[in-house]
Amino acid sequence: MQSKIWLSSPHMGGTELSFVHEAFDTNWVAPLGPNVTGFEEDIENYLGHDVNVAALSSGTGAIHLGLKLLGVSAGDEVLCQSFTFSASANPITYLGAKPVFIDSEPETWNMSPKLLEEAIIQRISSGNKPKAIVTVHLYGMPYKVEEIHAIANDYEIPVLEDSAEALGSTYGSRACGTFGDIAILSFNGNKIITTSGGGALVSKRKEYRDKAIFLATQARDKAVHYQHSEIGHNYRMSNVLAGIGRGQMQVLDDRVAARRNNYRFYTEQLREFDEITFLDEPYGMFSNRWLSCILTPSYEVREKIRVALELENIESRPLWKPMHLQPIYQKEVCFSDGTSENLFQRGLCLPSGSNLMEQDLERIIKIIKIALS
Ligand SMILES: *Cc1c(COP(=O)(O)O)cnc(C)c1O
Repeated sequence: MQSKIWLSSPHMGGTELSFVHEAFDTNWVAPLGPNVTGFEEDIENYLGHDVNVAALSSGTGAIHLGLKLLGVSAGDEVLCQSFTFSASANPITYLGAKPVFIDSEPETWNMSPKLLEEAIIQRISSGNKPKAIVTVHLYGMPYKVEEIHAIANDYEIPVLEDSAEALGSTYGSRACGTFGDIAILSFNGNKIITTSGGGALVSKRKEYRDKAIFLATQARDKAVHYQHSEIGHNYRMSNVLAGIGRGQMQVLDDRVAARRNNYRFYTEQLREFDEITFLDEPYGMFSNRWLSCILTPSYEVREKIRVALELENIESRPLWKPMHLQPIYQKEVCFSDGTSENLFQRGLCLPSGSNLMEQDLERIIKIIKIALS
């Protein structure tokens, strides 16, 4: 059996260990320290637009805090893109709020502006004005930022921008992660860069960042003893992991280039197969191509390719199963036109790591071509 090819595995740049060593040498092993501040500044500089960043223990935790900061509480409704990873939606339920799912449009695979507006009008008329909107740049492809945010502004509903998969992507040359009232990033092991596990909350409003850090460190009041007037969390990133993040930020642009190269390789190699299609970048959008995805004509063809790869020790993965089809969420209100369900049936994510070698890509494409012929 040939060696395993993973869907998306960690890819260190080389300088991470020196930051980690520094943390050890100065005994900044305990939470907080210079790497945390340094990592936050690195991200702020990278994203631009005067954002403020709080480094946290996960993207999921960042969404949880973000929704809390936007005022979501028990009984509220939150509109959420259905076609996403479950972590976009789960924190809504941590707060005792209810998700209302919105289907995607076919050009970016992200939240449909048309269905979003329909949902807002319908929920307002039933007496439940949504408290927030969770948007997602899925697989690194920006959503229709202008249309979505125009609607959110019209109805004065804040947006939590889930940019977990889109660090390095841009919309109209502006970085994803700078559009929402609050945005979040993830540095989980399979993301474009990793701290082995981690996330960040991003906002143009400094009060949000400060409050996020307060809540992420057990919400301790200013007093010599331990006093609490609010429920806190233990969500801060550790100084050791932030050291990994500092090293990873130095190679982020290389990682984006490598993932985009993977995507280009797949599109060129599969051009002869008319039945295989890709998600092109709409005008003005730049995707980090976190995962390279293909659409096949049917569930059967998708499975044929996936199983053929699996037999050769190559990991691939169906596109995300929409939240409104998940056993845990299928009873929730959903505004759907079948788009994401169709993508889920026919789509497959191909190995996309920035550390894939030429011979890995050749090995993968050979199997796909055999499966298709
Ligand atoms: C990975 C991911 C998250 C969660 O991030 P973690 O750091 O793993 O908690 C949230 N949303 C999306 C779309 C993701 O892909």
